[in-house]
Amino acid sequence: MSVPKKRRTRSSVKKRQSHDSLKKIELSVCPKCKKKVLPHTVCPHCGTYKGKQVLKIKSVVTSKKTEK
Ligand SMILES: [Zn+2]
Repeated sequence: MSVPKKRRTRSSVKKRQSHDSLKKIELSVCPKCKKKVLPHTVCPHCGTYKGKQVLKIKSVVTSKKTEK
């Protein structure tokens, strides 16, 4: 098994880790149901996009029972 030849300094480790932070997700507000959604995507809560009804949204419990 390969082993590091030299110890990495705290400086070099921290320089690498400076790119590791996660960015905050920018969310927009659905104009119909006012919930936070990803921009340029169909709202998963009410199924609308640009004011038009695109998806038929059923509640999770009833859709599983009625599909079978
Ligand atoms: Zn919505």
